[in-house]
Amino acid sequence: MGKYVYDFIEGDRSRADLLGGKGANLAEMTRLGLPVPPGFTVSTDACRAFLATGSPPAGLFEEVNAHLREIEARLDRRLGDPRDPLLLAVRSGGRYSMPGMMETILDIGLNDVTVGGLAARSGDERFAWDSYRRLIQMFGRTVHGVPAEEFEHELAAVRATAGPGGPSAGQLRDLVDTYKKIFVRHVGHDFPQAPHEQLFLAVRAVFESWNSERARIYRRQERIPDDLGTAVNVMAMVFGNLGPDSGTGVAFTRDPATGAPGVYGDYLTDAQGEDVVAGIRNTLPLPELARLDPVSFRRLREIMATLERHYRDLCDIEFTIERGRLWMLQTRVGKRTAAAAFVIAAQLVDEGLITADEALTRVTGAQLAQLMFPAFDLAGAPEPLTVGVGASPGAAVGRVVFDSAAAAAATDPVILVRRETNPDDLPGMIAAAGVLTSRGGKTSHAAVVARGMGRTCVCGAESLDIDAERGEFVVGDRVVRAGDVLSIDGTTGRVWLGAVPVQPSPVARYLAGELSPEADGLVAAVHRLLGHADAVRRLGVRANADTPEDARRARRLGAGGVGLCRTEHMFLGERRELVERLILADGPAEREAALAALLPLQRADFVGILAAMDGLPATIRLLDPPLHEFLPPLAELTARVARAEARGEDPGRDATLLAAVRRMHEANPMLGLRGVRLGLVVPGLFAMQVRAVAEAAAQRIRAGGDPRPEIMVPLVGDVRELAAVRVEVERVLAEVDGAPEIPIGTMIEVPRAALTAGEIAAEAHFFSFGTNDLTQTTWAFSRDDVEGSFFGAYLERGIFPVSPFESIDAKGVGRLIRLAVAEGRAARPELTVGVCGEHGGDPDSVEFFAEAGLDYVSCSPYRVPIARLAAGRAAVAATTGTSDSR
Ligand code: ADP
Ligand code: MG
Ligand code: MG
Repeated sequence: MGKYVYDFIEGDRSRADLLGGKGANLAEMTRLGLPVPPGFTVSTDACRAFLATGSPPAGLFEEVNAHLREIEARLDRRLGDPRDPLLLAVRSGGRYSMPGMMETILDIGLNDVTVGGLAARSGDERFAWDSYRRLIQMFGRTVHGVPAEEFEHELAAVRATAGPGGPSAGQLRDLVDTYKKIFVRHVGHDFPQAPHEQLFLAVRAVFESWNSERARIYRRQERIPDDLGTAVNVMAMVFGNLGPDSGTGVAFTRDPATGAPGVYGDYLTDAQGEDVVAGIRNTLPLPELARLDPVSFRRLREIMATLERHYRDLCDIEFTIERGRLWMLQTRVGKRTAAAAFVIAAQLVDEGLITADEALTRVTGAQLAQLMFPAFDLAGAPEPLTVGVGASPGAAVGRVVFDSAAAAAATDPVILVRRETNPDDLPGMIAAAGVLTSRGGKTSHAAVVARGMGRTCVCGAESLDIDAERGEFVVGDRVVRAGDVLSIDGTTGRVWLGAVPVQPSPVARYLAGELSPEADGLVAAVHRLLGHADAVRRLGVRANADTPEDARRARRLGAGGVGLCRTEHMFLGERRELVERLILADGPAEREAALAALLPLQRADFVGILAAMDGLPATIRLLDPPLHEFLPPLAELTARVARAEARGEDPGRDATLLAAVRRMHEANPMLGLRGVRLGLVVPGLFAMQVRAVAEAAAQRIRAGGDPRPEIMVPLVGDVRELAAVRVEVERVLAEVDGAPEIPIGTMIEVPRAALTAGEIAAEAHFFSFGTNDLTQTTWAFSRDDVEGSFFGAYLERGIFPVSPFESIDAKGVGRLIRLAVAEGRAARPELTVGVCGEHGGDPDSVEFFAEAGLDYVSCSPYRVPIARLAAGRAAVAATTGTSDSR
């Protein structure tokens, strides 16, 4: 027989696994000598045993009885005593807070006899009958599933006929009779009169509430494991509903919205806990308590200060005042907004309660990300049109368009509205201010792609009936047409018709250098915490930047260089035609002419980027994607040629292009002719790019600059591929007068490269993990295909908790990374190792990369501050062995 029950004086807050959060904190407050009604906790072990077998573990109720007798002795009052009954609260509480998801039953111990004793003891007959009817109601609903409305309906009827002072004792007694009848009708037997039976049934019901549907759904959303179980707290009741000198309330030690110090919370006189939720009467702002009951208020403030000093953090509190006496019923480290998290962490450092290192553990990269988005000014905003899934944060306002081409062509901000998106929508998604879909959740194509590029997205707005052909969608009886203005909130999922005003984020403005660090309390807090992160982090943060403008922005946001410059973006637009000439070249002369035309354009691009990153490294990746991506799509060409032929005209160049596209068609382009393979089979292509880099660097040096380019070869799988390219690269570099030393490295993005990293390091000055391709090739996932098809199901079924494209798969892909780092450094100790790709800006992944010993991460410019913060957190976690992300 195990030990399943712990008196509050036995436990403490470190035992939340066993006692649940609520129980552990009740124990902690008891230890601190705060006024907590006596009680005990039935452990989560007992719940797990119950859930496994369907019945309480042997001896549980004997143990409960033994603890109950101790409490009875301490209070000199017994459960079921007809003259002076002890009443109990039976409260759920698991390891992680699940607000309102599980059950609490108050006033256990009342029956037809003890109700008289309670009336006599309290001198308040109405109170006694009101408590009894509350018990029947809560017990009926929680233990036996009697619909709450049945009781509510009768209660409302009595309230309607009652005088201004509320129902009389007689009315409440009659109401108890009515409640008992409802109970029998639904349950098939009388309301149990034996107090111990009430207690045991209540404990059982709390165990069972762990598996209620809403609790399960909540856990899935919050990623709380299903097998933890809940603890059950049994404690003496105290009564906030004993008249005007009693009441119940909640308090926060600081404002959970802004972090401002002060007295925050709500208070309701003459009430029990559930009344606050039910909203029967208006609550008072907590400072009013200073007037109503100054003694209790002062005591509450002392306790708040004690708790803050003890927990060294914002606490939230539930309390009850019984006839002028204050009782603590709950506390925990309180939830807070992202803004409050930063402000409070900085304040606590100033107050000497935590160190700057600890402050970093109190804020997350995700919270900083949230603070960087503009937000809607909701004062005066209309009712939302509908609410979908907030999939990628931000506030976007624009005209409705229904197709990607219209979005790409628009010159003003647009919201791209689609049933769902697919890779063809990419240009539209890039051009749109926001994306709204009616299907799919947080893992749909739209959501994942939008998050990747920082575009605001609301998805799964199921009430939208979209008819793209007609250019309209319907929500209920509203018709919204192309051109109408929408506002969408990617954090809350809300969608409004019309333009809701947007406030720029002061944090983003500060990070962009437009606001001084002293602009306001929040900005000052962000400034301090980021500064500290920079001071402690060992992981460098670079940016992925393809244009001088991106590079400049990245630098302002604190990037220590460019970790990935994708040269393919320089082959688009007007230059596409030169690329076509290169691909269609008939013989070396034509090809060289095409390359010669591209050279000065590439050089100019690189001069701009090297200037923007003067003095800092800029890693330039040679061309990566399959060449046919630069040609018109097959379908379009086929149609063009067919049209020309139908008109009896010569399709000319289109026919040649079509033949080329057909010839180059690949079943799996991702696994086809791309990356280093392209460099090895298209003569002169990489040489032209390398020459452009070297000449650009030489030009910068002549202009007095300090260019630090690095050349990176994509998709290498075997050292001989890299060696062959390197010979050519070095030959070209040697030909360019005045070029600096330029390191040559490779991406590690296919498993074979990771597995042979030791060999590859012999030819590489640096490695950069391309975690997107490495994830694709390790899992055999084609990202464009899998995200939209089965990822939702995989996430639902818990096969992975989060998409491996969003957060690095530490076990699988991460293992390859660790291996490659170790073997690469063993072969070449001075090897620089970084990561480029979206994972570089994902806070959880950044913490993994730091721990794996990488030198830097590279991410999109706007994610640079987030990565800096995450890297700081990782450094602190490495020294203290703790990381607190919940
Ligand atoms: P939740 O986890 O949903 O907040 P609780 O177990 O905290 O549920 O209980 C809800 C409310 O019940 C509390 O806020 C408090 O007002 C009331 N309550 C809990 N325990 C007691 C008690 N011992 N005496 C009086 N009221 C209580
Ligand atoms: Mg509570
Ligand atoms: Mg790649």
